[in-house]
Amino acid sequence: MDLKTIIREVPDFPKEGILFYDITTILQNPEGLKASIDQIQEKLEGVEFDYIIGPESRGFIFGVPVAYNMGKGFLPIRKQGKLPYKTKSKEYALEYGTATIEMHVDAIKPGDKVVIIDDLLATGGTSKATVELVESLGGEVVKLLYLIELDFLKGRDKLKNYNVDSIIHK
Ligand code: 5GP
Repeated sequence: MDLKTIIREVPDFPKEGILFYDITTILQNPEGLKASIDQIQEKLEGVEFDYIIGPESRGFIFGVPVAYNMGKGFLPIRKQGKLPYKTKSKEYALEYGTATIEMHVDAIKPGDKVVIIDDLLATGGTSKATVELVESLGGEVVKLLYLIELDFLKGRDKLKNYNVDSIIHK
């Protein structure tokens, strides 16, 4: 199935001048949902890893089924103040202001190999902060995987030393 044809493009969301790629139209389509999970999973054939990490919230949608299918655990990255136990935080810059992401301090043991899955790579800010958070806990990022990559924003330039892969390029 060609997933490109069922992504809804929403102009001026969340603000004027931004074209937002809405993946809910993939999720509600049974074939689209299956194809998106299957195609992400195919990119992990032969990759050795311990956990899948997904940033809140669309990283959960694609990360969990792949972890489940591959017999791995899933570690959530959440926005500040959502995780109940002791956390490690990472602040990063947004276009205006900053955001903070968190993981539980005991989620990763030194040497654990992780794959980061998210719906979309734009500027790479979220992914860079995620990588730094994982590494500060001693984890090793073996791959970053996206359903959609916005090539013109050059997010992968922020992730130069890592294995970055995407299903759809826009
Ligand atoms: P970045 O940090 O790479 O600039 O932005 C990527 C993050 O913002 C991802 O977590 C992604 O879910 C979200 N994001 C940014 N733009 C879009 C978009 O057009 N569509 C969707 N679905 N997510 C987006």
